[in-house]
Amino acid sequence: MGEDTIAAIATALGEGSIAVVRVSGPDAINTVAKVFKSKQNLREVPTHTVQYGWIVDPHNDNVLDEVLVTVMKGPRSFTAEDVVEISTHGGIVAVKSVLELVLRHGARLAEPGEFTKRAFLNGRIDLAQAEAVIDLIRSKSDRAFQVARKQAEGALSKQIVPMRQQLIELLAHVEVNIDYPEHDVDDVSSGLIRDNCSSVLKQVQELLIKSNEGKILREGIVTAIAGRPNAGKSSLLNALARENKAIVTDIPGTTRDIVEETISLSGIPLRLLDTAGIRETSDRVEQIGVERSHGALNDADLILLVLNHHEPLHDDERKLLKQLKDRSTLIVVNKIDLPGQLVIEEVEQDYAKERIVYLSAKEGSGIEQLEKAVSGMFFSGAVESGDITYVSNARHIALLHQTKQSLEDAIRASYESVPIDLIQIDIAASWESLGHILGDAAGDSLLDQIFSQFCLGK
Ligand code: GDP
Ligand code: ZN
Repeated sequence: MGEDTIAAIATALGEGSIAVVRVSGPDAINTVAKVFKSKQNLREVPTHTVQYGWIVDPHNDNVLDEVLVTVMKGPRSFTAEDVVEISTHGGIVAVKSVLELVLRHGARLAEPGEFTKRAFLNGRIDLAQAEAVIDLIRSKSDRAFQVARKQAEGALSKQIVPMRQQLIELLAHVEVNIDYPEHDVDDVSSGLIRDNCSSVLKQVQELLIKSNEGKILREGIVTAIAGRPNAGKSSLLNALARENKAIVTDIPGTTRDIVEETISLSGIPLRLLDTAGIRETSDRVEQIGVERSHGALNDADLILLVLNHHEPLHDDERKLLKQLKDRSTLIVVNKIDLPGQLVIEEVEQDYAKERIVYLSAKEGSGIEQLEKAVSGMFFSGAVESGDITYVSNARHIALLHQTKQSLEDAIRASYESVPIDLIQIDIAASWESLGHILGDAAGDSLLDQIFSQFCLGK
C-alpha cells in the first residue's frame, strides 16, 4: 500500500525464552535477508515457510543469535503486507540487538498498534476486530479473553453487517420514492420503514440486553447494602457471605468503612459493599464513612436497603426510600424474628411487593427469597453461561445506544406526518452508527485514539 517497512518486538519483554521480532512492509523480506545467514536465500523461499539460520551483522560478521525465520507474503498475512517474523532464542539482549540490526537495514520502529492498524487499513480486519485484539491483550480473566477472541474472529461484525444491509436496502427504497414523488407509495414506504426499523431495533436491543448481562457475568453485580446504623447491614453481608468478614457490633455507627465481599449467587457474582450507616452525624470519622457510602450508592448496580422490622420507620429511612425508588433497589426488612413495629404499608406506597423481602439475618431465614429476587431482577436468561458472543467494548455499547435512539426516532416519525426525507436522516444515522462499530468512515482522530491503546509490536 505504498507504506514503509516497520519492525518491533512482538512478544512481551520478560523472562520468556523465545522472543519474536516482527517486520512488515514492502521491504520486509529484503531487509531481513540482508542480516540472515542460511542455506536458503530468503528472497527466494516460498511463502508461509520457516527457515533455520543465524542473524549476522553484515558489517563485521558478528553472529547475534540462532533463529527461525518465518516468511508470510501479503496479502495472506496479518497486515496483508509481506511479513517476516524472526524467532530469537537468546533472551532479551539478543532480541533487542536483532531488532536494532533490522532497524539499521531498512525498517523503521513501529508505533504501538501499527501492525493492527495496517491490518485494518488494508481491509484484513474491521475495527471491531481490531479493538478485540486490544481487549485480548488486556483481558484479565479467562472469560474476558474468550469474549475478546470471539470478537477478534468477527462474531460481532457478522451480526452487524446484515443489520446494516437491511437498513441500506430500506434507504435505497425510500430514496426511490423521494426521486419520483409522482410514484405514490407513501403508505407502503412508511410501512416498510416501520417493519425494517423495528426488526433492526429488536436486534440492537437484544445485543444491548446480552451485553448488560454479559457484563454482570464478567464483572459481577456491584451491590451496596444501605440502611441506618444497627439495621443489620453487616449481619446481612455475613449471612450472604457465610463468613465473618465485616464486624458485627451492638454499638450504632461502628461500621465506618466500606467492607467488600464477593459472593456467587446461583452463578452470578455479587460484589457486596457494606456501607457505613447512613444518618446525620457529627462525628468527623463517621462523616467520612457516610460520604463514601453515598458515593457507593451512586455507583451501585443493585441497592439492598435494610430496614429494621423491630423499629418504626425513621425519617432518614423515609428519605432513602424516596431517593432510591427509581433505582434497582430491593427492600430488605430484617429482624423478622423480633416483634414488628415497622408499618410496611408506608414502604409499599413506593415499592411493589416483589421488591420487598423479609428475613432474619441473625437466624439466616429468608435469604433464599432475597437471592430469588436478585436473580429475577437481573436475569432474563439472555446470556447462557457458555455464551460468549456478547458486546463488551464500551465504545460499541455507546454506538448501539445511539443506533437504538435513531431507529426509535425513525419509527416514531413514520407514524406522524413527518416528511420522508427527514425520516431518511434518522435511518442513515442508525446505519452510520452501526458502521462506526466496524470502523466505517472512522476519522483519523478516532483511529489514532483506538490504535494508540495497543502496546508496541501489535
Ligand atoms: P449494621 O449497623 O446495620 O451493620 O447492623 P449490624 O449487622 O451490626 O447489627 C446490629 C445489631 O442487630 C447486632 O447486635 C446484630 O446481632 C443484630 N441483628 C442483626 N440482624 C438481626 C436479626 O435478623 N435479628 C435479630 N434479632 N438481631 C439482628
Ligand atoms: Zn455494620
